[in-house]
Amino acid sequence: MIAPIPAGWMKPEPEPTGSSRTGEIQGTISAEGGRVWLYPREIGGRFTRARRWVAWFLLAVYLGVPWIHWRGEPLMEVDWFGRKLSLAGYFFWAKDIPLFIPGFFAVVLVAILATARLGRIWCGWACPQTVFLQFLFAPIERLIEGKASQRKNRDAAPVDFPWIWRKALKHAVFLSISWWIANTALAYFWGIDNMIYAIGHPSARNLPGLLLVLAFTGAFYYIFAFFREQACIMLCPYARFQSVLFDERTSLIAYDEKRGEARGKGPKGDRTGLGDCTDCRQCVLVCPTGIDIRMGQQMECIGCARCIDACDRTMTAWKKPAGLIRYASLSELQGKPLDGKPWRILAYAGLACSMATVSAGLLAARPAISVDLMRRGQSPYETVAGDSVKNTYTLVLRNNGSHRRVMRLALGVGAAGSTNWDGREFALAGGATSTVPVDITVPAAGFARGRYDAALSLTGPGLSETLPIGLAGPWGR
Ligand code: SF4
Ligand code: SF4
Repeated sequence: MIAPIPAGWMKPEPEPTGSSRTGEIQGTISAEGGRVWLYPREIGGRFTRARRWVAWFLLAVYLGVPWIHWRGEPLMEVDWFGRKLSLAGYFFWAKDIPLFIPGFFAVVLVAILATARLGRIWCGWACPQTVFLQFLFAPIERLIEGKASQRKNRDAAPVDFPWIWRKALKHAVFLSISWWIANTALAYFWGIDNMIYAIGHPSARNLPGLLLVLAFTGAFYYIFAFFREQACIMLCPYARFQSVLFDERTSLIAYDEKRGEARGKGPKGDRTGLGDCTDCRQCVLVCPTGIDIRMGQQMECIGCARCIDACDRTMTAWKKPAGLIRYASLSELQGKPLDGKPWRILAYAGLACSMATVSAGLLAARPAISVDLMRRGQSPYETVAGDSVKNTYTLVLRNNGSHRRVMRLALGVGAAGSTNWDGREFALAGGATSTVPVDITVPAAGFARGRYDAALSLTGPGLSETLPIGLAGPWGR
């Protein structure tokens, strides 16, 4: 059963007087209903530093993986046209999807667990939207257009030449980066070699690919240059349902109201009657979604922790302990001790581990060569030379590894008869599929009630597969 959202995490009613905001109105919507353009102030601090390291790592992963090859194959590529996934030198096909299903549920459970324990940790620390916007596009914007206050002043002033060239340069760079991201995103599906070839040759030769790149470029450019935080506030489906996973144990970025109120500037020394919040509004000014965390937990909060760094800086300047805004659970903020163990979290963790183990086991047990055997021809069998019966099949082979495999096919030990591959070999390149016609001929005398149980053996260096096979033949012998 899903726990109800504790009342303390809900957005409070509009503050009656002296409010820095007007209650339920979003920080990015004006009183007239228009868009309020945000200029989040620059901030440094321990969380921003840590997030920057995480973001650089993730950017390297997002943008670098298509360039990396492993055992001569892409480290990761979803080959759309070949309908296969290449991952770390192994190949997976549509038929392998069931092997991943428990693992997929394990990933979902880990995401649920992380949200239940740490709130919107994904949104603030690892979501590509946040990572690209805050750690790639925003620094470039700052480099070209200056700090938030400079940008705001320049945008408010009449248009002049510095405004024009800065905007033109910024958007040209944004478009170039969006084009790069679009090519990288497509390289995950089409391979980096194909992308490089397409870029270096006339676009008329690859018009669909070009249109796709242009569409992706336009989408990324629009999102990072204009739509920005609105993607998190209005578009993201994950943001919509995360709050149902929160309970009184969830550590969310929260303002310690007991300690902070009554807020007020006051003197640095004697703050009689005032809490620790100096009402400096730094937490609001750095917020990338324009909210005031002091109003309580809000759906627009992406958990980026910028307000923690901003507030810690103020607390340090006022010689007060850091952590007025911090990761805290509702029970901690209310000073209510929790009873019992976190069974929900433990259940998620246990289920995720089990599912991951099942998927790992299934993948480990997958053979080096996957084989499907299908009957070929119109009739189930054919009598040959009067006393033998021939069954014809098509063997569908998929090489799951990156090594070329040389194989032999024969009837299993002890079975009387022969195949058309006796004494011959065939090869299959890494990651390739092939169909092999197989004719099996056995003595008619071996059939009982129309059936002859045999086995095909597929052997080669490091390969030994046995395929049980029921041959069809005459009923009455
Ligand atoms: S309230 Fe704080 S954590 Fe939430 S989005 Fe704003 S700055 Fe980030
Ligand atoms: S940054 Fe801290 S002290 Fe300043 S307004 Fe926000 S909560 Fe209050």
